[in-house]
Amino acid sequence: MNEARILVVEDEPSIREVVSLYLRRAGYDVSVVADGRAALDSLSAQMPDLVVLDLMLPGVDGLEITRWLRARGDTPIIMLTARRDEPDRIAGLEMGADDYVVKPFSPQELVSRVRAVLRRTRTAMPGSGERPLEYGGLKIDPQTRLVEIDGRERSLTAKEFDLLWTMARHPRQVFTRDQLLDHVWGLTEYIDPSTVTVHVRRLREKIEADPGEPQHVVTVWGVGYRFEP
Ligand code: CA
Repeated sequence: MNEARILVVEDEPSIREVVSLYLRRAGYDVSVVADGRAALDSLSAQMPDLVVLDLMLPGVDGLEITRWLRARGDTPIIMLTARRDEPDRIAGLEMGADDYVVKPFSPQELVSRVRAVLRRTRTAMPGSGERPLEYGGLKIDPQTRLVEIDGRERSLTAKEFDLLWTMARHPRQVFTRDQLLDHVWGLTEYIDPSTVTVHVRRLREKIEADPGEPQHVVTVWGVGYRFEP
């Protein structure tokens, strides 16, 4: 397997340098750009395997880039955020960013996140080798990672699919948020449990007839969630 290609988008020169240094040292093929416009040019020319994306950028900001990327697929995104950026961080997760670190962060921690996200997206595809699940009009195919409702395809991000698959292959079993973080994200100690809540909401909007009255992904109050076939 070739080394993964990573695009780093960051306007602060010192952070840009340290992040690219550590990622290169970890063996990745790293490209660096300093603003959002250059990021879109680079992404249009060649899609990397992962994007390390500063949220606060001059011109085209990180959220716009996240939206642009999610309109085109599920290239993994790790956001670089400041503590005061919490609303934007949540917006980024809702748009489908995979993970984030809060500045100031240790470059080694960022490298660990990159490695974990790539491991999940490149190799450990949940469900590979298993057969599709069908519950009424809902079909979940782990080979193609496609979800259909009454024959109509729904576009899920990698995380949304993993979340649905994790629960749907154990119907009616209750999963806590921590269990879902562990299954779907891997690095529970770094990730806020509200990440699960955000992704469940997005998942319901895509697969439930009425996301306000979910029939499949059901909240178990005070505990977590379960899948109802
Ligand atoms: Ca910035």
